Amino acid sequence: MSEIIVQKFGGTSVGSVERIDAVADIIKNASQSNKIVVVVSAMAGETNKLVNLAKNFSENPNKREFDALVATGETISSALLAMALHSKGLKAKSYSASQISMRTTDSFSKARILDVDAKKILEVLEEDTIPIITGFQGITETGDVTTLGRGGSDTTAVAIAAQVKAKRCDIYTDVDGIFTTDPKIVPNAKKLDSITMEEMLELAGQGAKVIQTRAVEFANKYNVPVRVLSSFNNGNGTLISLKEDTMENALVSGIASQKNQVKFTLHGVGDIPGTAFKILGPISDADVEVDVIVQNVSVDGKTDFTFTVSSEDQETVNSVIEDIKEDVEYRDLIVNSDIAKVSLVGVGMRSQAGVASRAFKALSEKDVNIQIICTSEIKITMVIDESLVDKAVQVLHEEFELDK
Ligand code: ASP
Ligand code: MG
Repeated sequence: MSEIIVQKFGGTSVGSVERIDAVADIIKNASQSNKIVVVVSAMAGETNKLVNLAKNFSENPNKREFDALVATGETISSALLAMALHSKGLKAKSYSASQISMRTTDSFSKARILDVDAKKILEVLEEDTIPIITGFQGITETGDVTTLGRGGSDTTAVAIAAQVKAKRCDIYTDVDGIFTTDPKIVPNAKKLDSITMEEMLELAGQGAKVIQTRAVEFANKYNVPVRVLSSFNNGNGTLISLKEDTMENALVSGIASQKNQVKFTLHGVGDIPGTAFKILGPISDADVEVDVIVQNVSVDGKTDFTFTVSSEDQETVNSVIEDIKEDVEYRDLIVNSDIAKVSLVGVGMRSQAGVASRAFKALSEKDVNIQIICTSEIKITMVIDESLVDKAVQVLHEEFELDK
């Protein structure tokens, strides 16, 4: 029996009838040598349209109904794509989340996948039929429709690939693959032929938008090789590989940046056990993801505690800090929303020293002030002024010769 490949097509790839026809050709081609399972996004712009429709009656529409509405974009594209395949003489059937029991948690709009009925999908393949599955959607235990968060179709595709033991998950999009950095910031950024899963995890987590972070986490956890490639141009795209090519570890593989960040500093908190937990526990309970976390050395038993969150969570964090005031004593709360993060990622950093100092030198020569530095084994993240972030990315891209 031939092996299974999951092909996922993003919104722009199925953005029009012509595009759906072109995608059907890609699927037809691939189905000659492998068994194909397809996952689709809604047609480009469709999900935004539905989100705006939902806001007609209330700024905060009922969460269950909101998901029931925005999930319909994928229902349309999956059925249309099945029809396009029929017109080319192939057997195909569209499937919604409920038809393949794509079970998720019940946190509407950010539901997490729990389980999917691989048996059902395999049965369809056995009938030489191509299943076209709606991305982004899930169902709760009680059968309510959920969605997985914006960009969630990537995660649907990888989860299905893991369950049906696909040899690879191909994510088709409108760019040629993963680039050394965002080509909108650095026009001569280079497409990477491959990148390690570990590097991709860090890059996605730090703002590289080509693939949803959760999808990479899934791929990493279940050992699914992923390829990101264009449905518009021919090419091999970028392979996100499970194995490291030990010969050729790039010092820096990519640079990611993230605007719309807020930095919170609790100045003069007590340097006593439990402080970090008392601050970050309630923030995490409010479903807010915290990134850079720094606690300084203490002077006279007092220290500074700083962390960053995405701008959309600023209000939530403000009110959490208000709530814990009684419990955590501090002198001042300093909030800065004019910041951004820039991160260098590369597995080669593990074995070679000096990357950080080279980055700091290059930035200082261009008068970019670094507010916070935070490192992991394969990543250096710097918090800088938001207005300087594009310049910083350009300077670092050049310093590490990523265009070569
Ligand atoms: N259609 C959804 C969105 O626009 C999911 C996806 O495209 O991955 O976010
Ligand atoms: Mg997408």
